[in-house]
Amino acid sequence: KYAIGIDIGGTKTAIGIISADGDVIQKSSIPTDPTVTPYVMVDRIAETVLTLVHNSGIAGQDIDGVGIGAPGPLDTRNGQITCPPNLPGWRDFPLIHELKRHLPYSIKLENDATAATLAEKWLGAAKDEQHFVFITISTGIGAGIYMHGKLITGASGNAGDVGHFVIDPAAGVCVCGQRGCWEYVASGTAIARQASELLGHSVTSKEAFELAASGHPATKELIDNVYRYIGIGCVTLINTLDPEKIVIGGGVSQVGEPLFEAVQDYVGKYALNPSGRKTPIVPAALQQDAGLIGAAALVHMSY
Ligand code: ADP
Ligand code: ZN
Repeated sequence: KYAIGIDIGGTKTAIGIISADGDVIQKSSIPTDPTVTPYVMVDRIAETVLTLVHNSGIAGQDIDGVGIGAPGPLDTRNGQITCPPNLPGWRDFPLIHELKRHLPYSIKLENDATAATLAEKWLGAAKDEQHFVFITISTGIGAGIYMHGKLITGASGNAGDVGHFVIDPAAGVCVCGQRGCWEYVASGTAIARQASELLGHSVTSKEAFELAASGHPATKELIDNVYRYIGIGCVTLINTLDPEKIVIGGGVSQVGEPLFEAVQDYVGKYALNPSGRKTPIVPAALQQDAGLIGAAALVHMSY
């Protein structure tokens, strides 16, 4: 059996056919075009799906359904994307309803971090866990919560929006209106902004990490502070949820060992429950096609 995965991102939408073993059989990608309405995007997505299915030679009855991962916030009860900051034209768009008019399959929608969480459970770094949190540190910060063998999605599918934990109220104002949110101080965007302010010229987050690693004192202080912020958020999650493991993915996690060591160290000092102090903080296993595999997991896994 096969699933169709659709990963809607701010710049591109990836579409694929994924086997029950997690193999990407066919895939394609189209721009998420901000100059057209979401209705036109749905036409293009559906057309791409039908072409992929046709090219694959897979029979319709061998396709178990369509999974969609999309940027939040959304309303999964009504199959809608509500007000995604990167897709302004998609406000309150009835995505499932519109796609169903084109595709004869059952369709599931979850936010992209939730889908990625299920993918880590299915094939990634949390295969053996019944309780874990997945955190993605990228343009923003998001999370998915998997507890007691189930995804915790909340009433409308927006559980895990940890990027707006307030970590440092003395910091500046976040898009959500609060001061010092986790993603305002520790996302890739935040690292680039703070390092650029510090150095007086524009640098990327990757360059900031490289400068810190090469021993540049002020940047090293900045990056150590970012590791502390990531640690603070992890301790809050551990104290709240008592997970067996925290899995971290997203662009910033590519920094690797220094980040994981620093966060593990912070957690070891400050998480309160005895298991919390030892909670492993590990990198996500799925990198390539993680969004597509996450979307397919919504079909292949029960949650
Ligand atoms: P998206 O947010 O679109 O899902 P990514 O997960 O790649 O994309 O995250 C992008 C963010 O991660 C950017 O802020 C980028 O600067 C940062 N980033 C990407 N790769 C690295 C890296 N190797 N080291 C540090 N930061 C990185
Ligand atoms: Zn915020």
